[in-house]
Amino acid sequence: MTSSAGATDAQSIDVAVIGGGVIGLSCAFELARQGKSVTVIEREQTGFGASTVAAGMLAPSSEVEITPRSLVELQLDSLRRYPRFIAEVEAASGLSCGYRDEGTLWVSRHRDDELELDHLCAIQLERGMSARRLSGRELRQIEPYVSPRAVGGLLVETDHQVDTRKLVRALHGACEAVGVEVRIHTGATTVERSGGRLDLALQDPLGESTLQAAQVLLAAGVWLEQGLVTPLPRVGMRPVKGQIVHLKGQPLVDHVLRNSDIYIIPRADGELLLGATEEEQGFDLNPTAGGTLDLLRYAFEILPGIYDLNVTELDVGLRPTFSDHMPVIGPTDTEGVFIAAGHYRHGIMLAASTAYWITEMMLSAQVPNAIEPFSFERFLQQPQRQDGSG
Ligand SMILES: Cc1cc2nc3c(=O)[nH]c(=O)nc-3n(C[C@H](O)[C@H](O)[C@H](O)COP(=O)(O)OP(=O)(O)OC[C@H]3O[C@@H](n4cnc5c(N)ncnc54)[C@H](O)[C@@H]3O)c2cc1C
Repeated sequence: MTSSAGATDAQSIDVAVIGGGVIGLSCAFELARQGKSVTVIEREQTGFGASTVAAGMLAPSSEVEITPRSLVELQLDSLRRYPRFIAEVEAASGLSCGYRDEGTLWVSRHRDDELELDHLCAIQLERGMSARRLSGRELRQIEPYVSPRAVGGLLVETDHQVDTRKLVRALHGACEAVGVEVRIHTGATTVERSGGRLDLALQDPLGESTLQAAQVLLAAGVWLEQGLVTPLPRVGMRPVKGQIVHLKGQPLVDHVLRNSDIYIIPRADGELLLGATEEEQGFDLNPTAGGTLDLLRYAFEILPGIYDLNVTELDVGLRPTFSDHMPVIGPTDTEGVFIAAGHYRHGIMLAASTAYWITEMMLSAQVPNAIEPFSFERFLQQPQRQDGSG
């Protein structure tokens, strides 16, 4: 492995990635594959944050109308890169990522839903994405357990999914296989520029230590501005809470089912995930009766067979969210410090393109056109909340 900055110190590396979620691990894997010496610093364990809670839909279709065009383009770019990304992670780690390509089936319950699906279908086709309207009968031919009350559907074959827990495990293994040092139970507390390099202060169960790096990638998810002091101004990262119910029992569906209230995700091991709430509750990670009730009720409406399944888990995650719901993928005004964070509801889907473009940028020192709209700078043109991170 080469050192691009000609470092000689044993504690000095090319890139320190702060955060071992899907974004940090994907970027670390790609950077190491391109010859960089990389260390991932993870305060808890890899996948501790939103990444292993996430449903894992790779589905740019779902909110295409309200999503800015630049973000839809990045989602489609990522979807195109996904099969290769998965193949590389699986080859390096020897582990499955639980990638499935059956597609999404939108289920309509009444006239309102029907008009919404007509609309969604038209937008999908206009943007060159796949979509096929179905009658209630056609819907049940594909998925026989869908409620007899469902009146129609929309099949989006280009939507895919991954099992996020498997993905994170495989990414961790893949990173180590290409030489990344993954330091778990180690928090980064400070990042400071000092001369030509960046100094990181670290805290692990044995005490404090330091690390020097030529470049630092901040991929700390919703904790980007919590417990980590950097030279950057705070721009208002916030958590958006999401609850997911895990069920297990007789397999009922192969496709992801969804409508405007719920999505139902089948996993290969027979699990069914019902998601997800979207709540402004700060850093609260408690599952609630109300959240669970809503998810079960909406899911029962379109897939009554869930009634007999076992509830195996109530899971909660925090979506890392900036005020415009767009990620930051790019440099900052502190030389050598980059950000890949704020992927909100799309971090799993955007992992492949984030890793690709971050690596391009960190190797070339140029910001590629594809990620220009996701600059950190866009927040600096607005009034800032407060100077100094922490
Ligand atoms: C209920 C739910 C459903 C979702 N469904 C989908 C979906 O279907 N498809 C999709 O694309 N996306 C989905 N998402 C969104 C997706 O989960 C996130 O966008 C993505 O996981 C963000 O990844 P990340 O690596 O940026 O953050 P995280 O996974 O939160 O990782 C950040 C990591 O940084 C570590 N860390 C923080 N601070 C420090 C520090 N100072 N030092 C060291 N380590 C630190 C944390 O411990 C954590 O492990 C969903 C999210 C939720 C909550």
